[in-house]
Amino acid sequence: MSQASQRKSIEQLVAGDPPAAVDSPADSLAAVGQAQARARAMIRGVGARLTGPRLRVLSELLRADQALTHLDLQRRVEDGAEAIDRVTLYRVLDWLADNGLAHRVAGPDRVFRFSARSTETPHGHFRCVQCGRMYCLGASADLARSVLATLPDGFTEQRVEVTVSGLCADCAPAH
Ligand SMILES: [Zn+2]
Ligand SMILES: [Zn+2]
Repeated sequence: MSQASQRKSIEQLVAGDPPAAVDSPADSLAAVGQAQARARAMIRGVGARLTGPRLRVLSELLRADQALTHLDLQRRVEDGAEAIDRVTLYRVLDWLADNGLAHRVAGPDRVFRFSARSTETPHGHFRCVQCGRMYCLGASADLARSVLATLPDGFTEQRVEVTVSGLCADCAPAH
């Protein structure tokens, strides 16, 4: 595939599937309750035991509009609530990722971020070069297909990762 057509599919991805959510500054109690209910259902859905830390961490991931580092998550989980042990947090995140309830994505600083968005379908990521935030983009089967079409004969993929770099809506200069 030519560079031009690769660029085109990335543009299509960005144009067709903007980052799924915009941060809502006023976090209503209803939104918190909704995230908890969803987290509970997801954890039970994999036939696992519902523990406090699993519920707290997954609810926080579901409410986030961007992928979060361990540190981001710790701050959010502990905000107005009891402290969460670092080791427990790491273990819960690994457990969520291993069970397909969240996924990891490496940021520009090579630090892993976690997200509970778009876990099942192939999707790209957006990395803001100014604030360093990482966002999951919308799922796109076309994206994976067009990237795979560029593999030479005899190569097999294990995973497709596409990252778009640029300025997020918060950092882009106002029009
Ligand atoms: Zn930004
Ligand atoms: Zn993602």
